[in-house]
Amino acid sequence: MRLRKATALAASVLALSLAATACGSDDGDGDGGDGGTGSNAGESISIGIKYDQPGLGLKTPDGEFVGFDVDVATFIAGELGYEPSQIDWVESPSGDRETMLSRGDVDFIVASYSITDERKEQVDFAGPYFIANQDLLIRAGESVPDEEAINDLNLCSVGGSTSAAKVKENIAPDADLIELATYSECLTGLENGTVDALTTDDSILAGYAAQEQNVGKFELAGLALGPEHYGVGVPKGETELRDDINAAITKMVDEGAWDEAVEANFGPANYNAEPAPEITETS
Ligand code: GLU
Repeated sequence: MRLRKATALAASVLALSLAATACGSDDGDGDGGDGGTGSNAGESISIGIKYDQPGLGLKTPDGEFVGFDVDVATFIAGELGYEPSQIDWVESPSGDRETMLSRGDVDFIVASYSITDERKEQVDFAGPYFIANQDLLIRAGESVPDEEAINDLNLCSVGGSTSAAKVKENIAPDADLIELATYSECLTGLENGTVDALTTDDSILAGYAAQEQNVGKFELAGLALGPEHYGVGVPKGETELRDDINAAITKMVDEGAWDEAVEANFGPANYNAEPAPEITETS
């Protein structure tokens, strides 16, 4: 399926989905809602996620996709009439997201994707569905820098992310900042000592710190460097799809599936998530 089809089908699919709810067919287990009506049989939907962010979007060694963003995306797809087996997951690195949406490579993106005015010049967002805060990941036992001292560090972040942009604009304009393609590459640099800290959203950093192979190696600095409102990216002008996604997010929160997904994905990392935010990205 490509985006045109997604939009054209969205209204009728949502209507079917709502009818199914009225009939009590929702099992309420948060595994994609009640959207598996078969109304899009034979179709697939392409959804952009991260592949290397444990807790949010992770491709496991056996080819499974897990994380909070995956659960949110699966629920939304369910509301649009797609079973989990009809989802084509597509890796969407931070620096490629606007291009992927503009080119029609994916129908929508759920990938720790912050809503910003600059990005809204190229894409539209549904949501927000989650609020994180920028922080630093440092080696365990090393002293936590105060905000001024961040300027003296060798930092690593990802090109095209708000994390890198905010370091340069206001958090630490004098810091040495390396911008790589993924946060997991920065993690390697932190481990081998070529960088002093990895900076991005605390939700992402908590996931790395909690990974079995990293336990005891890294810790979050605990600096609240600025909020990040995660939205679902859709191609510019896809307002119907955006509205349907907003309805799906609202339903996920109202049914308790959002809380369940937060607990299941962030609980193991002891990450205290903010409550579900109010939806602001409407027509
Ligand atoms: N949420 C931030 C952003 O959208 C950082 C995380 C990411 O790069 O996905 O840029």
